[in-house]
Amino acid sequence: LRQYGSAAEAVLRLGVVLLLAVGVGACEQRDPRLNVLLVSLDTTRADRLGCYGYEKDTSPHIDALAEDGILFTNAVAPAALTNVTHASLFTGRNPFNHGVRFLLDARMSVLADDQLTLAEVLRAEGWQTGAVVSAAAASSNFGLNQGFDLFDESFVEGDGHQRPGNSTLAVASEWLESASEPFLLWTHFFDPHDPKILPPLEICDRFKPERVDNVLLNRIALYDAEVYFMDQMIGQLLERLDGLGLRERTIVVVVADHGESHGEHDWWGHGVIYQQQIRVPLIIRLPGGPSGLRVDQLVRTIDVAPTLLSWLDVDPLRLPHVDGVDLSQVVSGNPASAPTSAYSEAVNMQVYSLHGKKWLKTDKQYALTTDRWKFIYHQLRPAESELFDLLTDPDEEINLHGTGLPIEEELARELRRLDPMVEEISGLVQPDDRVIKALESLGYVN
Ligand SMILES: [Zn+2]
Repeated sequence: LRQYGSAAEAVLRLGVVLLLAVGVGACEQRDPRLNVLLVSLDTTRADRLGCYGYEKDTSPHIDALAEDGILFTNAVAPAALTNVTHASLFTGRNPFNHGVRFLLDARMSVLADDQLTLAEVLRAEGWQTGAVVSAAAASSNFGLNQGFDLFDESFVEGDGHQRPGNSTLAVASEWLESASEPFLLWTHFFDPHDPKILPPLEICDRFKPERVDNVLLNRIALYDAEVYFMDQMIGQLLERLDGLGLRERTIVVVVADHGESHGEHDWWGHGVIYQQQIRVPLIIRLPGGPSGLRVDQLVRTIDVAPTLLSWLDVDPLRLPHVDGVDLSQVVSGNPASAPTSAYSEAVNMQVYSLHGKKWLKTDKQYALTTDRWKFIYHQLRPAESELFDLLTDPDEEINLHGTGLPIEEELARELRRLDPMVEEISGLVQPDDRVIKALESLGYVN
């Protein structure tokens, strides 16, 4: 019996050893490097999402993602123009260092080939890279296709210049199904940008205001419906990721390129750099990382690329000269490594205006935001520069410029050190007709 038992034990042990060996073998075959799903939300201000305190239920899926991951409550974009901020997102650089500063000018609107992007670095390191964008403002016209094996910018299912999120979702899901790991997938949603392509009627009805005669409420209701529709698409994309068994091997980043003004500062749309335009949602779900973590330190969208490289274990020097910092330490509870200020600019005023305030068309603005203060220098009208105490005045209604607060000179000095000023422009270099046509369709040209 004993002998028999021993033999049985031996067989059992062998079986266990074999099973372990098979298991280890399977693990060895799988590339241990993580995938990245980077979702950019066009025109989405942080305070219109539930996880940032909005009272309406516009974002159940993004909210759930935040509960499973990290919510950055104070994330700042470097501009409020699609091509400029996406260039910053992928290079980790401020606009004055990557050179994309305008939307409608052939000189400073296209990301130059010599600018390295996150996608180029990851592709060179063996990641498969795919991008599915939803509007001409995020297209290859602006050099944003750099580093992507697949760059899908077909807007046929939209109006030729933009497409609804369901079309983007379909292409992104299909790509995911056949992607080899590790991969980087950038999915860009454009729905909240403008009311040209409306969400389904039942979603519009869901957010219908009580007073339909109120233009402001109607506008916000439509925006909320578009955010909700986009959130549904993101929910489906994340579900697809789960269905393919990729959840535990994929870092998910949800970030907006910029926000939107709904009448604040007498402004509709984006382009300028008040908090409604530059305070953006940033949510990251990291496999094995913290869940339900809120990071209140000031961070910037230029920090996303260096942070991802750190988590992906790629040498940060592969993406040199970044202005952003690696936030992994901040996430691990070391706030000392958080950035101390965020730079933003609006030097596009010559060509961009949606409503009123025509004088803004000839202004150039440069802002530095800290965890408390924000200084906006008006290059062409220095006397109209602005200083706000965001702690007591988050809506930037009380201009403290010129009241003698030492912080103003400190921030002004730091701005001068960064040296972002654009020289006087004697005349715009028009992009080609195809680009102008697309931008007109998206509401960028008066
Ligand atoms: Zn945009």
